[in-house]
Amino acid sequence: MKSLQLKYLYNPPLLIKLLFKDFIWESSQSKILLTFDDGPTSETTQMILKRLNDLNVKSVFFCVGENAKHNPGLIKEILSEGHEIGNHTYNHEVITRLDNTEFNNQIDLFNRLLEDNHNYTVKYFRPPHGRFNFHTQKILAEKKIINVMWSLLSYDYTNDLNIVNFAIRKYLNSNSIIVLHDSRKSKNIIVDSINLIMEEVNKKGFEIGKPAECLR
Ligand SMILES: [Zn+2]
Repeated sequence: MKSLQLKYLYNPPLLIKLLFKDFIWESSQSKILLTFDDGPTSETTQMILKRLNDLNVKSVFFCVGENAKHNPGLIKEILSEGHEIGNHTYNHEVITRLDNTEFNNQIDLFNRLLEDNHNYTVKYFRPPHGRFNFHTQKILAEKKIINVMWSLLSYDYTNDLNIVNFAIRKYLNSNSIIVLHDSRKSKNIIVDSINLIMEEVNKKGFEIGKPAECLR
């Protein structure tokens, strides 16, 4: 089977969700989960943490290992503020291109960094570029790591708030898992994107959930 790429969809197709049943595609509660990929970065992560703190919202940050290594202070801050950290590989690799050893290394190096330097056990994974295959499912199951996909891609990395606005207004559900980015690309619109989500959540009478309750 060819690897799947879900990057260019707001909401992944049902068939894929059925084939990859071990993966989490939506919040298990009627509550919305915010997630942030590709950080931490000094430019963006700090702003997000401040805004989330003001809102009392807890999220999952799917970090890249090399960014985590270079920004230990930000990792500490993410954890001390009650957020979770997920594994987004060590080098943001397209995992379907890796052999078995390389794939294992990408996961294990990340987990070990968090364990050794931050005394934190990683529970969640998200594949870079939304690429995965059946082998991914098997290895993650063996490692007892939960693969967290999404049901709403915000397109914040386009750096265009109008696109984010369209995605959120059209596709936000009561159990959405939303992907945002704490990368350089989204720096200029990330706080506005969070505000826009909160506005829509309030307007529709939805609720934001904590990672542990949404990813049960
Ligand atoms: Zn990514």
